[in-house]
Amino acid sequence: MVLVYAEATNGQFKKVAHEVITYGKQTADVLGTECHALVLGDTAGAESLGKYGASKVYRITSPQLEAFDAAVYTVAIAEVAKQQGATVIVLPHNSTGKNITGRLAARLEAGSVPGANAVPTMKEGFFTVRKPVFSGKAFADVQLLTDVKIISVAGNSIPVAETGTDATVEDLTISLPEPKTKVVKHQVATGRVPLPEAELVVSGGRGLKGPENWGVIEDLAEALGATTACSRPVADSDWRPHHEHVGQTGVAIRPNLYIAAGISGAIQHLAGVNNSKTIVVINKDADAPFFKAADYGVVGDLFEVLPKLTAAVKKY
Ligand code: FAD
Repeated sequence: MVLVYAEATNGQFKKVAHEVITYGKQTADVLGTECHALVLGDTAGAESLGKYGASKVYRITSPQLEAFDAAVYTVAIAEVAKQQGATVIVLPHNSTGKNITGRLAARLEAGSVPGANAVPTMKEGFFTVRKPVFSGKAFADVQLLTDVKIISVAGNSIPVAETGTDATVEDLTISLPEPKTKVVKHQVATGRVPLPEAELVVSGGRGLKGPENWGVIEDLAEALGATTACSRPVADSDWRPHHEHVGQTGVAIRPNLYIAAGISGAIQHLAGVNNSKTIVVINKDADAPFFKAADYGVVGDLFEVLPKLTAAVKKY
């Protein structure tokens, strides 16, 4: 059985949970087995995970799971995997998954692939998982040789697919350790859709010249109902907050529309945005490398082009 950890934020399942279940279901199909989901904490609508391919949902509610503690969550997932006989465990490759994957692998003496971006295959009889390496310039096909295998799935690497109906939910009781950490405060960084889930993104680079000029990006984002993003040097210079930085070392996104203004299109930037469905590039340099990756390009001064684009969007 493939066991998928379906993460909920404030009791709600986000796109990332639906992605990992879709991935788990497709992995289960490759192995000819079932996909089950695991939910930790009190969540509404756990049965809805069946729509994405989980034939059963396990749920553990416990005071120890109220705030995220990697050590406690690791025990919960490992014990359910052992109890239910999971041979593959799937997690999201976000901050939670990155925190748990290694611990889980050590606890279960399992081989793991962090950051996979394709559904496993049985290449030459071996369970093989693909992951990007060298900033997405190449792929590594990794064979997992252990009885239990752990995969964390890179965000936005496979499209969500609805294949089933509501699943049955089974409440489990697992003995959990006391958390060793305490969350003192949660602070929401922005009122907009978080970048990993955004369908529309307007992004700015060093071509904006300074933080005081970000109004042209904000205005277009506002008109479109989009989320704002930026290149790494912009975040490194404190022009924009770090959670907006996209690319190899930032957030990887897969929106329907990515508008990049004043960004050159370095390979490290492209590594996080080249899965966008449609890329629009605005750059005054016709030779900027980003144009090669663009679906639409405007060669021009962003300070002239963006306000015109915003005005045009507002008309509709
Ligand atoms: P620049 O390269 O300076 O480009 C600015 C662009 O704006 C130019 O193309 C210019 O023609 C254009 N421009 C200027 N004025 C205007 C105007 N008025 N109108 C229109 N266009 C204009 N970068 C990331 O973004 N994300 C990452 O995750 C990341 N990870 C990295 C990891 C490593 C290990 C390394 C070494 C680098 C990484 N980088 C990353 C940095 C990356 O290599 C580039 O340096 C960076 O993406 C460049 O940012 P930029 O395009 O905003 O700036």
